[in-house]
Parts: sequence; structure tokens; C-alpha cells
Amino acid sequence: MPTYEEARNIVLESVAPVGAERVETGRALGRTLAEDIAAPWPLPFCDNSAMDGYAVRADDCRGPARLKITGYIPAGGTASVRVEPGCAVKIMTGAPIPAGCDAVIPFEETEEGDGHVGVKGNVTVRQHIRFRGEDVREGELVLPEGTPLRPPEISMLASLGKAFVPVYRKIRVAVLSTGDELIELGEPPSPGMIINSNSVAVAAAVRETGAEPVLLGVARDDLPSHAEKISEGLTADALITTAGVSAGDRDLVREVLAELGVVSRFFRVDIKPGGPTAFGVKDGVPVFSLPGNPVSALITFEAFVRPALLRMMGRKKVVRPLVKATLTGQVRKKAGKVNFLRVGIEVRGGEYFATSAGDQNTGILRTMVLADALAVLPADKTSFAAGETVDVCLLGEPLR
Ligand code: AMP
Ligand code: MG
Repeated sequence: MPTYEEARNIVLESVAPVGAERVETGRALGRTLAEDIAAPWPLPFCDNSAMDGYAVRADDCRGPARLKITGYIPAGGTASVRVEPGCAVKIMTGAPIPAGCDAVIPFEETEEGDGHVGVKGNVTVRQHIRFRGEDVREGELVLPEGTPLRPPEISMLASLGKAFVPVYRKIRVAVLSTGDELIELGEPPSPGMIINSNSVAVAAAVRETGAEPVLLGVARDDLPSHAEKISEGLTADALITTAGVSAGDRDLVREVLAELGVVSRFFRVDIKPGGPTAFGVKDGVPVFSLPGNPVSALITFEAFVRPALLRMMGRKKVVRPLVKATLTGQVRKKAGKVNFLRVGIEVRGGEYFATSAGDQNTGILRTMVLADALAVLPADKTSFAAGETVDVCLLGEPLR
């Protein structure tokens, strides 16, 4: 049985980016660049003023000076005037630097009157000028393939005139629930029946990665129903099933996957919760068979599915970094397996503190609701004292 890390490595070695497309830069947020982007021109494009003020010759301003105002260059204007010795040109932020000028003096440091401007002196060459190419050189590789696109990258792409960008395409991820006990959301509860929460929860987790969920509904506990739904799921870029993978006599998922040609890579992992998690591949399509228990399904999604989906969409860093948190209370576990402990996170004095979010039984969904992070407790250790530091995987920013 693979360990947590071994299983995750098997998954990550089995997937690769699935293809690229061109999208409008304004709609590329959250996507990942599929090609290197080089600068077709330098940034800034020309020398320009960093302040509203006066374009001058620094040589004229060694000490207090009075300069004749001989021109005005507004933002969007052209640098048609030349700064002659003893003269200054009024200039706005972003306007091109006129010939002859080698410094800009901000308005705040001047006094204007009678067509002249008085300056106190101590002006250094190049001050308050943004020089052509000082940010990005022409031809420079600015954004490499694999860069996730956030607002700053979108800003850079737009500044380089890229109206469309090559990005890895969104993948379509089929989501299938299994089990005769499932009723659809909207139907009233009844004893023995369970609302199919996994489909919408897993679909939401898929969407959070930036992928597109395709809901296949429920496969009933018979072979034809499983075969039909799983065949349909195998036409997507990835397939996620929940339930029906443990030792129950109606647990048909693995049997049907094998019949349909899915090559099994593992069918159990040495973790708790989430032990009965299976993974296989058919023609490059990864198939994740998650446990049916809603808590276990979400935790194994986080552990194995999320990194894989991100990699399929071109991301390089796909595993959330573990950070250190101080336990506020004692925690015990059995030896042998890595445990994922659902914890609430508090930030005090700039440091993380982790408190068990409640009953860690996997039947308790509320503990998952109250968790901001999963503490990853090592296999061999059994007792963790209050004040001890543990590794936690933040599931997002602590929101409460
Ligand atoms: P299984 O893995 O089939 O033994 O299911 C484990 C537990 O998860 C059972 O209590 C199921 O009723 C529950 N379960 C299975 N599928 C779902 C689902 N789609 N939504 C909510 N609970 C589920
Ligand atoms: Mg079942």
C-alpha cells in the first residue's frame, strides 16, 4: 500500500497538460501560460517623466536657479520642444522627456511666477525620469510558460500589447456518485436514504481549481448502471467517482473500471481518513475513485485530485506548501498512518495556531466545515502535546 507521498507521486507522474488555446487577455485570469512570452518592445516604451513638474538640465540647477519656462508637455503630448540652457519645460507624469533635458523637478519643489520657475538646487542627473527599457528590455523573456495569470501578469501582458494569450485549456472533469442509497438534492430526506452531497461538493472543488465539472449524476449499485456512467465519464479529461471502492459487496467501481480498460495504479493509500482511495489511468485519462464518505471525499480530493487537475492545466507548483502551526491542545492518534487532522487556524502575533475543529470521526461533516486547514500528522508519531509545532496545509486564507 503506497504512503501519502508515494500515492501523490504516482498520480502526478500519470498526468500532464492536456492542450492549449488562445483566450482574450482580459479573460485569462487564473489560467496558466502555455508559451513563453517575450517583450515585442521595451517598457517603458520611451523615456518619460515620473512626476508632474519641470524638465530641466541638471547642470543649470547646481544651486538655487531661476529658469525660463519655454514649453509644456501634457500626458499624451509629444516632446517637440527642446530644453535649452537656462530653460525649463513644464511636464506631466508619463509625458515623453524632451531633448536636452536630463532631470525632472517635481512641482512641490519649485515656485512658478512671471513665466519663470524658481528651483532650490541640488538636482541630480536622471532624477524622476523613467528610462526606456528600464523595466523590461525589448526581446526579453518576461513571462515563462507555466506562469499562472494573476492581475499583475495580466497587466504585463496588456502593456506588451498582447490582446490574446496562449493558455492551457480548462479541463472537463466528470463527477460521478455511486450508490442505491442516494437521493437527489431537493428530494425530502427519508430514513436509509442519503442526499447526494458529493456530486455538488466535488464539482465545487473541481471548479475551485479552475476546471469545468461535468455532472454525471448517480450510478446505481448494478453493473450496467456503473458501466454506462463510467464509460461516459471516460470521455472527459478526468473522471472522479465517489463511494463503492471499499470492501462492501456492492462496491462495483473497481470491477467496472478494470472491465473498461482502466489500468489500476493503486487502490488503497496508507492514510486516515481516505484509506480506500483508488487511482487508475485509461489512455491518459486519470480516474480517481474517492471514498463515499463526504469528509473523506473532500480530503482525498485535496490530497490527490487537486494537484493532478492543476498539473493538467499547466501549473508547475501544484502541491500547497506545508506551514508550521502551534497546537493549542493535545492530540493523539494511532501509529502507522499519516493522519489528516481538521483544524481551525488562528493567526496571533503573525503566527499560526491550530486547534482541532471538533470530533475527528469522518462521519462529522461539521468538523470539515469548521476547518481552515489539515494538519498532516506523521505516520509513526502517536501523541502531540499542546505547544508542539505541526505541519499544516492551509485550505485557503483563514476566513474567520
Ligand atoms: P461507501 O464508500 O459506498 O461505503 O459509502 C460510504 C458512506 O458515504 C456511506 O454512508 C454513504 O451513504 C456515503 N455516501 C456515499 N456516496 C455519497 C454521496 N454521493 N453523497 C453523500 N454521501 C455519500
Ligand atoms: Mg456504497
